Amino acid sequence: MKFNKNLENIKTYEAGKPIELVVREFGIDPKDIVKLASNENPSGCSPKVVEAVGAILSKMALYPDDSMIKLKNALSVKMGVANENIIIGSGSDQVIEFLIHAKATHGSKILMNSITFAMYEIYAKHVGAEVIRTASQEHDMDEFYELYRQEKPEIIFICTPNNPTGDALDAQKIFEFLKKIDSDTLVVIDGAYMEYAIAKDAKKEIVVKELIEQFDNVIYLGTFSKAYGLGGMRVGYGVANAKIIKELYKLRPPFNITTLSLEAASVALEDEDFVKKSVTLNLQQMKRYEEFAKEQKIDIINSYTNFVTLCLNPNQNSSKISNLLLQKGMIVRDLSSYNMNAIRVTVGTEEQNSRFFGLVIQFL
Ligand SMILES: *Cc1c(COP(=O)(O)O)cnc(C)c1O
Repeated sequence: MKFNKNLENIKTYEAGKPIELVVREFGIDPKDIVKLASNENPSGCSPKVVEAVGAILSKMALYPDDSMIKLKNALSVKMGVANENIIIGSGSDQVIEFLIHAKATHGSKILMNSITFAMYEIYAKHVGAEVIRTASQEHDMDEFYELYRQEKPEIIFICTPNNPTGDALDAQKIFEFLKKIDSDTLVVIDGAYMEYAIAKDAKKEIVVKELIEQFDNVIYLGTFSKAYGLGGMRVGYGVANAKIIKELYKLRPPFNITTLSLEAASVALEDEDFVKKSVTLNLQQMKRYEEFAKEQKIDIINSYTNFVTLCLNPNQNSSKISNLLLQKGMIVRDLSSYNMNAIRVTVGTEEQNSRFFGLVIQFL
């Protein structure tokens, strides 16, 4: 059978290995498995969310409120934007899918960092768009601008902090860059880890209201999957000029967010204390990784997220080491598919991190 030609050279996205799979493959007791591979919040989510979702379980038979008014109102208050500036997706992943389909077609060019979130390329390929990448490992806005001038891309992706490297740009750098970009180019600012970045360095904060007031060609992406601890609920959002949002809405399937997920995200926004505690714990535990890397003479990229990227030495093989860890029930992310001899480790609880140090040290 013949399929859409655009799909031929797409490699299926490999999410962090699910715990269930490790149980089956290696026969390890689930309680002995630690997953530090998908940047989930090790503290779980706010207890208020658990309570609120529990209270509406009986509503499962009904379709969700497709206007998503409760969540939109909560987001608009938090960011100081209007509801018409917001679109909610099944994870911000889905918003990425919408925006690429809305703006790019066969032969369109999409500019992104050399190493960045893998889903940008996969969605680009859906529509047969051409991916243009910078050469430098960290976002270099001069290089981005040079390539923008040469290639005239339809879309530019800026991921700050960047996944899977953890580095982040100063907001001022981004605003300066945006001033030089013409209004026909859609610029995406993916802030999936922004809550963590702001806690470490206020200069990294993109004020969404200012961003969309100044630029009508920019969309900001946020998610509830990371600092808010709701990866399993699949809720993310895009914020942009109403004209952009209106186009994205044409691609949105009805009821794309479940009733329980809408409730979870709305209530999560009411408990900023939980997020504060999470980012504080993250910063404390991150220090242990920095110390560990120093002791082991391994390069670590200064991270503004809830994960660390350990750049291994040439005599250490990232695929081999992550496999050995896996056999011990420790799931981390091998970055060899990004052409890096590195592993990405989600900063877990104190206990999970100790377990990681104790195991990995045997394989270095
Ligand atoms: C996790 C992540 C997302 C989105 O995750 P969802 O769970 O789909 O909201 C988007 N961008 C980056 C860079 C991420 O790491």
